[in-house]
Amino acid sequence: MSRKYQFFFSGLLFLCLLVVITGCGKQEQTTSASSQPVSHTYFIFDTIVSLRVYDDRMTSAHFDEVEGLLKQIDQEMNRQLEGSEIDQVNRHAGQKAVPVSEETFNVVKTSLEYAEASGGKFDPTVGPIVDLWGIGNEGAAIPSPDALASALQLVGYSGVELDEASLTIKLQEPGMMLDLGAIAKGYAADVIAEYLKENGFESAIIDLGGNVLAMGPKPGGHDWSIGIQAPDEKRGTHLGLIKVKDKTIVTSGIYERFFKENGVVYHHILDPDDGYPVANDLLSVTIVTQYSMDADALSTSAFSLGLEEGMRFIEARQNTNAIFITENKDIYVTSGLRGQFELTNSDYHLIE
Ligand code: ADP
Ligand code: MG
Repeated sequence: MSRKYQFFFSGLLFLCLLVVITGCGKQEQTTSASSQPVSHTYFIFDTIVSLRVYDDRMTSAHFDEVEGLLKQIDQEMNRQLEGSEIDQVNRHAGQKAVPVSEETFNVVKTSLEYAEASGGKFDPTVGPIVDLWGIGNEGAAIPSPDALASALQLVGYSGVELDEASLTIKLQEPGMMLDLGAIAKGYAADVIAEYLKENGFESAIIDLGGNVLAMGPKPGGHDWSIGIQAPDEKRGTHLGLIKVKDKTIVTSGIYERFFKENGVVYHHILDPDDGYPVANDLLSVTIVTQYSMDADALSTSAFSLGLEEGMRFIEARQNTNAIFITENKDIYVTSGLRGQFELTNSDYHLIE
């Protein structure tokens, strides 16, 4: 049997969105806002993080502080990092409640809210099946049905016990594992935005490999123009643009981390009900909303729910919109984005 694996190791390839900064516009009448960004790149969470601040007052000391914040989140929420808070919670699964920081507690709590809201299609306890598939790692392969069935027994968000008073988390069964991979990058983007605001910065593009937060307006008060990645094309090739101010744009797609076997694509968003990669006709879902943590959880949730249910799920939320792209190259946008999404690639069709 010939197996053809296609892996993308480089964090660069996690970049889902091309951020297009278009139009020069009129410069703001302050001395600090700048039409040219001051930028810095980090590598964290297996992802390239790029930060562009449109303000000359942004210094290397500020960038260092941002790095400190990212490292802190890594120490708290990266289950792959030995000794991190989530690692400790996982190691003590079935044994005891583990004290965590307020940040970790709140992100886990939010992830459970999305688990509830999505009817379990988003589930932060997917750790055991994520490890079994190993998608994105060398040697990823289709697990045996037996192995999958036993790993699946350990998946279920109702087995997460939170104690608000003592800020502890306990996993009920030994072997259970929290995995915040579908929400932590969004949280990190929000933390960076908060830091920038507190320090008097107004315009910035925060990009954590596909999680984009377009903070404030562009200098001069203009909208940002954000490109949406064409799922089946070279990175940086966009299929359309949306114009936004102070919004986050987060994509979950199956083209990021996957392997192919006998022509079937096995990707990294798993269905907690059967343990297999979510099988529907979607290539990607992009969420446009205010907070990146929500957008991150929602993009994974909406993807898992599929086009029809996912559309309903997003339409029911205030100030939240989505772009769904299917295998047939059809693009569906929620009502709040109609007239705002500009298709730039004629291979795709905007269904209205
Ligand atoms: P990306 O990490 O590429 O930005 P997502 O935000 O959609 O994409 O998160 C995918 C990651 O979330 C997976 O790599 C895995 O760690 C975890 N995950 C996979 N399936 C689910 C699911 N159904 N619910 C919650 N988390 C998931
Ligand atoms: Mg996500």
